[in-house]
Amino acid sequence: MALPRHAKYVVIGAGVHGLSTAWHLAKELEARGAGSGADVIVLDKTGVGAGPSGIACGVIRNNYFQPAMRELMAYSVGVWESDPEAFHYHPVGYMQLGPEVMHADVVQIYEQQRAIGYASELVEGEADCHAYMEGIFSDWQAGGVTVVLHEKRGGYAENLPSMIGLRGKSEALGVELHAPVTVAGFRMEGGAIAAVQTDRGDIECDQVIVAAGPWVRDFWRLLDLPATITVRGRDGKDHERPMWTYWCLQEGTLGVDPTYLTDNEGNPPPVIHIDTDAPLLDGMDGSLVTDELWGIYYKPDFNFGGVQGGAMPWVVKEPADDVKVDPYGAKSKEYVVTEEFERMWTSALAHCHKRFEGKRPLYHKAPTGGIGAFTPDSFPVFDRFRENAYVVADSNHGYKMIGVGALVAKELLGEQQALLEPFRFSRYAQGKLHPVSHSPFPWS
Ligand SMILES: Cc1cc2nc3c(=O)[nH]c(=O)nc-3n(C[C@H](O)[C@H](O)[C@H](O)COP(=O)(O)OP(=O)(O)OC[C@H]3O[C@@H](n4cnc5c(N)ncnc54)[C@H](O)[C@@H]3O)c2cc1C
Repeated sequence: MALPRHAKYVVIGAGVHGLSTAWHLAKELEARGAGSGADVIVLDKTGVGAGPSGIACGVIRNNYFQPAMRELMAYSVGVWESDPEAFHYHPVGYMQLGPEVMHADVVQIYEQQRAIGYASELVEGEADCHAYMEGIFSDWQAGGVTVVLHEKRGGYAENLPSMIGLRGKSEALGVELHAPVTVAGFRMEGGAIAAVQTDRGDIECDQVIVAAGPWVRDFWRLLDLPATITVRGRDGKDHERPMWTYWCLQEGTLGVDPTYLTDNEGNPPPVIHIDTDAPLLDGMDGSLVTDELWGIYYKPDFNFGGVQGGAMPWVVKEPADDVKVDPYGAKSKEYVVTEEFERMWTSALAHCHKRFEGKRPLYHKAPTGGIGAFTPDSFPVFDRFRENAYVVADSNHGYKMIGVGALVAKELLGEQQALLEPFRFSRYAQGKLHPVSHSPFPWS
């Protein structure tokens, strides 16, 4: 397909945000009689789902301590629910299990979910939590859980198939996807982008949407934005912080039949996320893995072909400029899961369910996981820069955030969206930071 020399809207990145923005933009343009999908092109240097959107565990939940995140997630879950088939969405629900140190946070999340009408159930107290879990899994054996939040909506979707579904929706409305096309720069005129420079020639445009996942750092540079920024902290003082920090996301699969993890009725269970301060013992030899707060998540997954999930990510120590994003994910030797993850995650599965005791040898020994670019407060930045560049930087929260593209599309057409307001870049200088929970994960 020939690359056009002009497009009104150029979307960079065929991950969840680029594809969702393109689809919704096409819909909005048509609905307003202001154009059509033919005004929108998507460029990707590799292809659909070549970044984290194509390898993500695919968990879709509302469970966030930050009210602004929760509202955005509730909106996004609605988009997943709009076409489960096309999005390969499994609405099995989601459960957050926590220890006493997280109890109050989880209760607060539950209360705020009730306030926004998001269906969930709260269970409190160790005995009641245990009984509730046994009611779902007869072999449940994790102690020390004093709070359970059972979200009745959400679940998970299949990573690459869902991206192909999204692509289909935008293409049906006339959006063209061009790949492989690498964006290498911008031609600026009078402070705005006049053309996107690619390895297949320049494309003049009116608006650019940067939805480049962990490659956002490169576009930040191209837009001449600062590598270090000032953040007004909770102490009221200004702190210099790197704009981007990379974290390595650890995920893996236990090679059992996915039906090995059904509930007591033989149905696929909700996605389980447990955080706990109970000592974690090695599932094979009983030695101590950790006595600090730890957490894992898991689900049976017919796409991955096993029980799939992950654990806490680790921070990549190098400054963002030195981090090699390519080759991405499992193709990289640097940022994939370690044997330490295998031991921890399989031990944690056995900590929760008797059925997983002694099952480590079934761990699927293949490189998995990937890296994500995190902002200074680990929450997204959705904002416009250099007049006509809209940056969608989800701080690695984002597979579940399929609705962001719908809101971005409206903003591109001049309708500011209250749900996106708490995610502006100016919040750092103003100290309008999101509240921080007691969860060990940087994105809860
Ligand atoms: C291992 C792992 C598990 C995860 N699990 C979950 C989960 O369970 N639930 C959840 O909600 N989130 C999860 N996430 C986070 C989520 O996957 C990401 O936040 C989200 O997919 C990012 O989407 P995106 O559209 O911004 O970027 P991406 O999916 O990275 O897409 C960006 C695209 O931009 C293209 N690109 C980059 N540079 C250029 C260039 N110069 N020119 C042209 N194209 C370019 C890339 O090829 C890529 O296809 C996970 C992340 C990882 C790494």
